[in-house]
Amino acid sequence: MPTDSYDLVIIGGGIHGAGVAQAAAAAGYSVCLLEQSFLAAGTSSRSSKLIHGGLRYLESAQFNLVRECLHERALLLKLAPELVKLQPFYIPIFKQTRRRPWQVRAGLSLYAALGGFDKSALFKQVPSSQWATLDGLSQEGLQKVYRYMDGQTDDAALTRAVMASARSLGAELVMPAQFLQAEITPDGCEISYETEQGERGCRARLLVNAAGPWANRVLAKIRPEPQRLEMDLVQGTHIVIDAPLERGIYYVEAPQDQRAVFVIPWQGKTLVGTTETIYRGDPAEVAPLAEEEAYLLEVVGDYFPRFSHLTRVQIDSAFAGLRVLPRMAGSAFSRPRETLFHVDDANQPRVATIYGGKLTAYRLTAEKFIQRFAPHLPERRRRGDTRRLPLHPV
Ligand SMILES: Cc1cc2nc3c(=O)[nH]c(=O)nc-3n(C[C@H](O)[C@H](O)[C@H](O)COP(=O)(O)OP(=O)(O)OC[C@H]3O[C@@H](n4cnc5c(N)ncnc54)[C@H](O)[C@@H]3O)c2cc1C
Repeated sequence: MPTDSYDLVIIGGGIHGAGVAQAAAAAGYSVCLLEQSFLAAGTSSRSSKLIHGGLRYLESAQFNLVRECLHERALLLKLAPELVKLQPFYIPIFKQTRRRPWQVRAGLSLYAALGGFDKSALFKQVPSSQWATLDGLSQEGLQKVYRYMDGQTDDAALTRAVMASARSLGAELVMPAQFLQAEITPDGCEISYETEQGERGCRARLLVNAAGPWANRVLAKIRPEPQRLEMDLVQGTHIVIDAPLERGIYYVEAPQDQRAVFVIPWQGKTLVGTTETIYRGDPAEVAPLAEEEAYLLEVVGDYFPRFSHLTRVQIDSAFAGLRVLPRMAGSAFSRPRETLFHVDDANQPRVATIYGGKLTAYRLTAEKFIQRFAPHLPERRRRGDTRRLPLHPV
């Protein structure tokens, strides 16, 4: 039998679960978060670790997303200076690059405008006299190099910091705790979950499904089963090469298919990603594919001749994460990255699912979530404001 009662019970300790826990606790609600393994065990430790507006989303006209993410970036640089840092990004343009200099300049100008022409949003052209200092970037056919600034973080550390902030405001964390099932009742949900001490129960006015790639598996365990949105899981792989990168992050165009790929300094090594491969298996078993590793090696070797001799066995490590994207025709690259909230019943929501989203926008997503569901929750006294809560590494 359920014992504890909360305003919100959240399933999933990724960035969205932690973000909603923080925003809900700040708004004064009682909150409990259930995580089956450890914080950021899923996608939130396998991203490209960028806190950015997403320059490439300008190509698919997702202007609002870019503006919001740039605003969140500016806020996180202030709230979490130990966790989020500005880095120079370099965009090299070669004779064969599809995106021509005028297009990149136009994109960077729009990016600066959407960032409010903040100092950190300005960009410049790198003089050719400095090209030789760019980490061994190939000079053959190089026509122009642009430099702009964007943010980098440790995604798992950020998730832990947000959860620590939520806990400091009263949110509870139960971990490891695997959500088993829930029953929708007239005034909320009765929930059961498995801990190392056995099966437990609790009640929530609102059950928040922040299980990321597991979201539809969670819905399948709720009675009556809420309708689900048809989503695709799209795998993104990164490889790590055991060689440092000194100057910053390189934003290159994959010669094979013209996708944007990042080459990133990461913990004294070089991180290269990412890919887009439809995934149909168990989210817990996602792993880099041989062809994805070969693709990334080819891209990095093409731009940095010092990596061109590397083979798959020389990769230091690799990891894969899953994007949750709306099912639609066309390539994953151009699908919308907006976050979707989906409810069991629009008039009386008792289960709310978060689909998709960006690490960068987690705070705004969580605030929008609370704003959307506040009319269905009791009045509580606010304890904090996420726009002002500092985040520290834990
Ligand atoms: C390859 C890749 C690169 C990306 N790069 C960036 C980037 O550079 N910048 C950016 O802003 N965004 C990026 N993103 C997007 C961002 O990483 C994700 O939107 C975000 O991490 C999703 O977080 P989440 O909390 O929704 O899901 P997750 O982090 O996957 O969290 C879900 C959690 O639910 C838990 N869970 C599942 N089932 C249960 C259960 N039954 N009981 C209890 N717990 C359960 C899991 O263990 C997991 O911890 C990237 C995404 C991918 C895939």
